[in-house]
Amino acid sequence: MAVVERRYLFTPGPTPVPAEVLAAMGAPVVHHRSPDFRPVYERCLARLREVCRTQSDVLLFTASGTGAFESAVVNLVTPGDPHLVVSAGSFGERWASMTKAYGADVDHLRYAWGETPDAGDVVARLGEREAKAVWIVHSETSTGVVADVQAIAAAAKEAGALVVVDAVSSLGAVPCETDAWGLDVVVSGSQKALMTPPGLGVAAVSDGAMEHRGSTPRFYFDWERTRKAQRALDAPFTPPVSLVSALDVALGLLLDEGLEAAFERHVRLGRAARAGAKAMGLELFSPDEDRSAVVTAIRAPEGIDSGVILTAVRSRFGMTLANGQGDLKGKIFRIGHIGWFDVFDVTTALAAVELVLAELGADIERGVAVTAALEAYEHSSVA
Ligand code: PLP
Repeated sequence: MAVVERRYLFTPGPTPVPAEVLAAMGAPVVHHRSPDFRPVYERCLARLREVCRTQSDVLLFTASGTGAFESAVVNLVTPGDPHLVVSAGSFGERWASMTKAYGADVDHLRYAWGETPDAGDVVARLGEREAKAVWIVHSETSTGVVADVQAIAAAAKEAGALVVVDAVSSLGAVPCETDAWGLDVVVSGSQKALMTPPGLGVAAVSDGAMEHRGSTPRFYFDWERTRKAQRALDAPFTPPVSLVSALDVALGLLLDEGLEAAFERHVRLGRAARAGAKAMGLELFSPDEDRSAVVTAIRAPEGIDSGVILTAVRSRFGMTLANGQGDLKGKIFRIGHIGWFDVFDVTTALAAVELVLAELGADIERGVAVTAALEAYEHSSVA
């Protein structure tokens, strides 16, 4: 008898969703203004504050991460305002386009994809021209680079600018200290390290950001409307109640593990993925450093299109990995390891890549990746 086909999701979002979270999605739909929903809503919002490490409100939007980010743009940008957008990959460039689309006068500190933004450059740019806000991506999922947001935020604060952080793929995976680092806005989405299906966007918004709202017309994404309603546990619009219940369960799992333990697990998963890839003889595209704990980007061997590798692991083993984006398409592939991942997910992905590369005739070392990954995971203590 044929075995039901196993499917594996090894992308940096959407990510696998634990059974408890999926089960919450399947519970009967309740009314959002009834006592059936309010306690769930209240707990979910409180857990979000805990995960964001903030005392401020975390606003919940029925949107993907981009929608939550757009809430920051429509609330903070007034056409003609000076803003500094830092980009080093696909998502940073998206925010430069979006802030420009809303009429911001954007100074674009643009790095090549794969570079790591530097706080010193931010200081220099803010010395040349003031900015109302500095917009920065914490984990640039397109390249695997995790920026030193703490240092960049300090530079922005020093210059009197607000700090808006895209933490879509980092929240819950790597430290993101909203209050301690003085981050005014932290945006994320449900479908990454928060282990929930796509569809919810979150934005932690400081009082400082609230005070500096601009005059761009807005309605659905108006922060004040959402904040006021959330504080009364009376959502401004019908929330996706099943997704909120699921997120609540997922955040409970994350907090039960403990944020610090989850961060350590992600560091070790990153080490395992890099060690395995290198042992095979592959070249890393993402930095070989502990901060790079979200997604490991690996160069395809010379002469092999990464899309061919991905198609093969998908059709042969039911595994979905991510291609490169933009100019990196066909050149790199990415193994995500955020959220509900353990080391055997990493070794499974590496084993499949190894098999496929061997079949494609790549000059790789066989039989060593899994061992190297397990060793890096097991024998690494995190400072
Ligand atoms: N920013 C980063 C760093 C991401 O990884 C993503 C995910 O694709 C986004 C923004 C966009 O989020 P979404 O696809 O949920 O709109």
